[in-house]
Amino acid sequence: MNSAPPIPTIPWLTEDECTRIESLIAPLAGQYETKPEHWIHGHDEGLSYCRECALAEIARLQSDHPDREYDLDGGWGIEGDGLEYCEICEHPLNNHLTRYGAECELEAFEEEGFDLTSQYQCYALSRILDSHGFGPYAYLPGSPFELQQRHKFYSRLHALCRSILAAN
Ligand SMILES: [Zn+2]
Repeated sequence: MNSAPPIPTIPWLTEDECTRIESLIAPLAGQYETKPEHWIHGHDEGLSYCRECALAEIARLQSDHPDREYDLDGGWGIEGDGLEYCEICEHPLNNHLTRYGAECELEAFEEEGFDLTSQYQCYALSRILDSHGFGPYAYLPGSPFELQQRHKFYSRLHALCRSILAAN
């Protein structure tokens, strides 16, 4: 039995409204400076670094453990459950958000409100949109659970964007 796509419970943003959101956040999001994400093969690959710190860390590890091999990896945006920062210098790193990561960022906006004058917040919203678009992609296949989760996610995203448009 095929499950029908979920019925929207909120009016989705129009294409024009989506474009307005993108142009509202683009200037400040573009000013938020990030560096490519790197990690070290042979070391804990869950740790992220900027290129400079990764190279310095490799040199340090190599001198501590001359018998082991460490290699620089990364340099492109991979998916993460949150926005990443360099393990050493804490500089923001660019990556893509998993839906879980995007949900966490959305939740923060819902709780604290969205500040259009914050470079960080504009950047975080642009990451959500770059990673997941405006959806709601009800036509894409998925289990009933997945469709429901997707529907919930885009409902929240559209509600947030609608509140930004209303305030600006
Ligand atoms: Zn660094």
